[in-house]
Amino acid sequence: MSTQRPTCPRWCVAVHASEDESAISRHRSAIVDVAALQPAGATTLMLELHRTEGELTTWVYIGDGERQFLELSVESALRVAAALESVGVA
Ligand SMILES: [Zn+2]
Repeated sequence: MSTQRPTCPRWCVAVHASEDESAISRHRSAIVDVAALQPAGATTLMLELHRTEGELTTWVYIGDGERQFLELSVESALRVAAALESVGVA
């Protein structure tokens, strides 16, 4: 039995039959762990895409699941990555 909706983006791994709390689906990607170094030490950040059915914006969550996070549109996240390159780190 498929758990996906016809409107799921290709990155969606949500099990909509059990995860959706209303008639409106919340698409989400798999969580990707990213090893990161912060001034306080090493940590693991989670990265996840999500989008509510019917909305145009796909959001990127990057955070530790507790205290710190960024939630940006995909386009904004790509601009941040491009800005890092523009200052010469890559
Ligand atoms: Zn979906």
